[in-house]
Amino acid sequence: MSLRYAEKLSYKADVGTVGMPELFDSALDLKCKIEALSQLIKESQHLVVFTGAGISTSCGIPDFRGPKGIWTLQHEGKPMPKIETPFHQARPGLTHMALVQLQRAGILKFIISQNIDGLHLRSGIPRSQLAELHGNCFRETCSSCGKEYFRDFEVETLGCKPTGRRCSDPECGAKLIDTIVDWEEALPPADLKLAEKHSKKADLILCLGTSLQITPACNLPLKAVRAGGKMVIVNLQATPKDKKAELLIRARVDEVMWEVMNKLNQIIPPFVRIDRIRMSYYYYWTKKKSVKWLLRLGSSHGDRAPLPFITSVEVNYPNRPDLKQKLLKKQPFVLRRETMHVKELDVSLTLHFGEGCMCVTANILQSLHFEVPPEQKTEKIDMECVLETVRSRAAAEKQCGEMTVIDVRSLPDTLQGSAVEFAIVTSVVAYTPILVQVPDEIEIPKEIIRKAPIKKASNRARKRPRRF
Ligand SMILES: [Zn+2]
Repeated sequence: MSLRYAEKLSYKADVGTVGMPELFDSALDLKCKIEALSQLIKESQHLVVFTGAGISTSCGIPDFRGPKGIWTLQHEGKPMPKIETPFHQARPGLTHMALVQLQRAGILKFIISQNIDGLHLRSGIPRSQLAELHGNCFRETCSSCGKEYFRDFEVETLGCKPTGRRCSDPECGAKLIDTIVDWEEALPPADLKLAEKHSKKADLILCLGTSLQITPACNLPLKAVRAGGKMVIVNLQATPKDKKAELLIRARVDEVMWEVMNKLNQIIPPFVRIDRIRMSYYYYWTKKKSVKWLLRLGSSHGDRAPLPFITSVEVNYPNRPDLKQKLLKKQPFVLRRETMHVKELDVSLTLHFGEGCMCVTANILQSLHFEVPPEQKTEKIDMECVLETVRSRAAAEKQCGEMTVIDVRSLPDTLQGSAVEFAIVTSVVAYTPILVQVPDEIEIPKEIIRKAPIKKASNRARKRPRRF
């Protein structure tokens, strides 16, 4: 569950300032500031975005220092905030998807995030353009070769400890460790190095939904300012870095990003979630000419990994009404049967999805071959290409349930049977307009656009030489 993170972090009495009042710009100020921010983005050559918990609150994940934040309630001696959405069910919000579009359009060059909810990667931001300074609760990494594994379940440990799984590279096999950084632990060097490089290069750094209090992460945006870049902060609470900001916006990030995207003529793409599932079966013949077979539906991350999005599986035999159907209610979803005189059997598997999926059911039709299978096709599937086709089709039709086979292989060693891996679209989310409450007839006086959003402190920064 998403709050396990806060519960598992070692206790720290001093977590900085919490529970400060939320401030909101007046409608007119907001309109002017959004105009100014859009202009800054248009003029930027190397835009870097720095994100905090505030961009995920609209996804049902509590922040830390807001009025109902985790640290605020802890400070007041109150219980943890109510969990609205476990991390594995959370969907990226409007801001996450706006950033995806800015990245695809070549406007956004890099994201530095303090969030561990994994929503930037889930939204479609490439790993190479993202630094996750505090880790990612879905990512584990090999302690020896450094290979990264992205799971569809939350990795169980915290503090870069062994997770119990091993590297699947046959030449490595070392222990995997989680990537969540506990208090006082050093930030991951590779991510930090990239974050520093892009901060120094940034001519515009946009801080979204962060109170800029956790060091050393919060000092990164200042590297941009010191190198002559401009910093814009969009946050509801005051931050210790406010004075250094070119522009300070007190509004919800989703509201600001919706308007900014409109002004930049950029359309926020829908979010398409693709989950993967592995169906495997093996069999052997008895002396009585019956075949004993076992069917298993499990995670593509390994037989022992949990499958968080499927609650039950119904098994039917469309061509054999004489065979009894079965509802598998518990993980691992395994069915053992013995069937007389068949060499091939069609099975229909109806998957029932759990909370957090927009898809209710999906159907897999598969033939089980109880003979030596034909020669294996060895052609390699371009996974990214196949997934992109599925994603764009689902996005165009705004419909989940789309499914495709991404891998077929024989079972290893002495087992007879095969394993098929499917990619299934389990959610499609389109983002609806969030209107800034400004009546259209308000004319913005030109001097306000010029003066209002610009803070005095920024004049200094603007006079410094730019890198570009
Ligand atoms: Zn390894």
